[in-house]
Amino acid sequence: MKLLVTGGAGYVGSVCAAHLLEAGHEVVVLDDLSTGHRDAVPSGATFVEAELGAGADEVLGAGGFDGVLHFAARSLVGESVTEPEKYWSGNVVASFRLLEAIRRHAVPRLVFSSTAATYGEPDQVPIPESAPTRPTNPYGASKLAIDHMITSYATAHGLAATSLRYFNVAGAHVAGDTHLGERHTVETHLIPLVLQVASGTRESISIFGDDWPTPDGTCVRDYIHVDDLADAHLLALQHSTAGDHAVYNLGSGHGFSVLEVVETCRSVTGHPIPAVVAPRRAGDPAVLVAAGHRAAEQLGWKPSRTALARIVADAWEFARGR
Ligand code: UDP
Repeated sequence: MKLLVTGGAGYVGSVCAAHLLEAGHEVVVLDDLSTGHRDAVPSGATFVEAELGAGADEVLGAGGFDGVLHFAARSLVGESVTEPEKYWSGNVVASFRLLEAIRRHAVPRLVFSSTAATYGEPDQVPIPESAPTRPTNPYGASKLAIDHMITSYATAHGLAATSLRYFNVAGAHVAGDTHLGERHTVETHLIPLVLQVASGTRESISIFGDDWPTPDGTCVRDYIHVDDLADAHLLALQHSTAGDHAVYNLGSGHGFSVLEVVETCRSVTGHPIPAVVAPRRAGDPAVLVAAGHRAAEQLGWKPSRTALARIVADAWEFARGR
């Protein structure tokens, strides 16, 4: 297939682009490099540096595209609370312009990076796709708004659409000389922060609360290897149906606590990694774990890199190579 990958210079987008190329697809990456890195774009892809709305119209206007995988987004929860305009503009308005370009140029398929943040504080865990969507911050709300737009375009214009709701994406794509992983200028995610301690660029890791209603008192999350996540995107491209918008949770269905993550990082890196208990972070739910049956049943997706030690070892391999 000939595919447009928006945000293909970012963490998840670049790894998916690599998987698509390895599977023999033709890939055009569109990225404005506002948060992505030019050197993360896999060498087999055509790279276009442009803003999403206008860029997509121009790229798709060349014709012959079989699908779009849409990763480009702003994704910092805290920033979305203090500067929501960036999320309504950069996520919602830009995605609307992308959808219009898709419609104008009759591209048949779309796979969208949605998020578990669309559910907000869950009533039940594991979280099924049928759970109520009540995002607790503008980031989650902007992704949910895009999901709603996509549903209406699928119904009205026959788009074959899939939204993949990621839980905690982690790990790195380590294949020969290609190492693609998390490299945010403002890093907020647990595993890369812990690995910064192991590599000596940070003194200690703060544990945001040890009095949560969980077995060891720290928050529990469902960490999913970025390569498993990429596999789901390839399956979604094959299984989508014209006029339908399918939504799938992507998680392993198993949760690990913050303390378990820190302990695993200690054993993988051999570094003592000092940890300091800090106040809870606003907006953190205690437990977020996916009920992933739908992706298994309908896409045939089965994450295979679910061991936390494997996820951390790949992230460490990437971090050490930098
Ligand atoms: N966390 C932590 N210390 C940090 C960063 C994160 O204790 O320096 C915790 C955070 O409170 C959450 C978990 O680690 O319970 C995962 O956070 P992350 O930001 O990686 O992902 P999120 O679940 O917020 O999407």
